[in-house]
Amino acid sequence: MLYLSTRGAPERKRFCEILLEGLAPDGGLYLPETYPQISDATLSRLRTVYHTQGYADLAFEILSLYIDDIPADDLRALCRKTYTAEVFGTGEIVPLRHLEDGVWIEALSNGPTLAFKDMAMQLLGNLFEYELARRGEELNILGATSGDTGSAAEYAMRGKKGVRVFMTSPAGRMSPFQQAQMFSLQDANIYNIAIEGVFDDCQDIVKAVSNDLEFKRQYKIGTVNSINWARLLAQVVYYFAGYIQATESNAQKVSFSVPSGNFGNVCAGHVARQMGLPIDKLVVATNENDVLDEFFRTGVYRVRGSADTFETSSPSMDISKASNFERFVFDLLGRDGAATKALFCDALNRDGRFDLRSDPRFADAAGKYGFVSGKSTHADRLATIKATWEQHGMVIDTHTADGLKVALERRVAGVPIVVLETALPIKFAATIVEALGREPERPAKFEGIEALPKKVQVMKADAAAVKALIARECAA
Ligand SMILES: *Cc1c(COP(=O)(O)O)cnc(C)c1O
Repeated sequence: MLYLSTRGAPERKRFCEILLEGLAPDGGLYLPETYPQISDATLSRLRTVYHTQGYADLAFEILSLYIDDIPADDLRALCRKTYTAEVFGTGEIVPLRHLEDGVWIEALSNGPTLAFKDMAMQLLGNLFEYELARRGEELNILGATSGDTGSAAEYAMRGKKGVRVFMTSPAGRMSPFQQAQMFSLQDANIYNIAIEGVFDDCQDIVKAVSNDLEFKRQYKIGTVNSINWARLLAQVVYYFAGYIQATESNAQKVSFSVPSGNFGNVCAGHVARQMGLPIDKLVVATNENDVLDEFFRTGVYRVRGSADTFETSSPSMDISKASNFERFVFDLLGRDGAATKALFCDALNRDGRFDLRSDPRFADAAGKYGFVSGKSTHADRLATIKATWEQHGMVIDTHTADGLKVALERRVAGVPIVVLETALPIKFAATIVEALGREPERPAKFEGIEALPKKVQVMKADAAAVKALIARECAA
């Protein structure tokens, strides 16, 4: 399997070459040259693998269709080391919970940081350690976080050989629970950096350091953001596991509703569907930051400025642009790299928007690719959390509530719909209290974490200071 860039550069790369990279050199995103096709017989075999051998072996089967530069025994061992009941809370790893007739919730948030990002990031940690050891190299991951991504990255990379994580976050702006989750990690290779500023200041620091190419090369600076192909690939697996649990025969179709921000999660659903998994609709649920809903409704993709990007009670979906969206548009345009570049490079830089309304291929987004969308607001979240508690005795988090609200609007009679649970309610306790008048349950392992000793250094919003820290630690 070879990988290409969505912007049409002629180079082709193998999986392990793109594993540690971010964007392709031409600024595009990596995708496989083709999507491997799953026949009916193969899907039946995968069904048996999941039921008899479990999630880790299902993951191995799917990953091995895309990865041919890691020996099969090693890849299987990496999957088995990653997807364990100890790390993910249950032997099923992603159990389906029945909500009501035809509506399921797929539990993706029982990993170490209680958000679905663990599903991919935990595998990434093991893949990075494996590949760095094979090359005899080291990597310094530099990131900016306002919550979920940073903690998922730290819990995936803690204690891993050859990797250090330098994670910036805006001082005092994350919830006490999120701060405690990250700052209580005492591992020597994890560096929490609280920046006196806002999230944008953190992102600016990461950009400034990464743009210093000399520094970047000397100190082997890398990232783990959601455009990483290996993260997206790991997410394809739980669409298969969700489908298999929701059906008894391959003749049945299932829809998925996905709380969306950067389009990474639902893009994995698109890949699964392109492989031939019998998915009916892919429902893109957004919050007030409705860039994606607007596109699927109108054909206009309009990046928001910071003044039009809202801070909401489903904060992990607060985006101004959707960084993985280019992957889908590349497919929508018949994999025309030049046309994709014209939209994402030329039009977005010039106008901050592009418009596919009059392009006949826009109709394929719904028709051929099954995408529909909807939007959910703070009031919708509160109402959905309350109704789900009152009618089903289940407490769901704010992001999952966005997914459920839109799922109920978009579902079609006779086709089961699976809502992806992207976080547990304890991470967003204030909104749960607002909706239900009570605190959400806290998993036992998080009892009292706010009182644990914290390992964090506070810094001014200054890229030079962060560089100095990295240089010092690499020399130590
Ligand atoms: C990251 C995240 C999302 C959005 O996922 P994308 O892949 O960016 O679309 C939704 N909910 C939660 C809780 C998240 O952490």
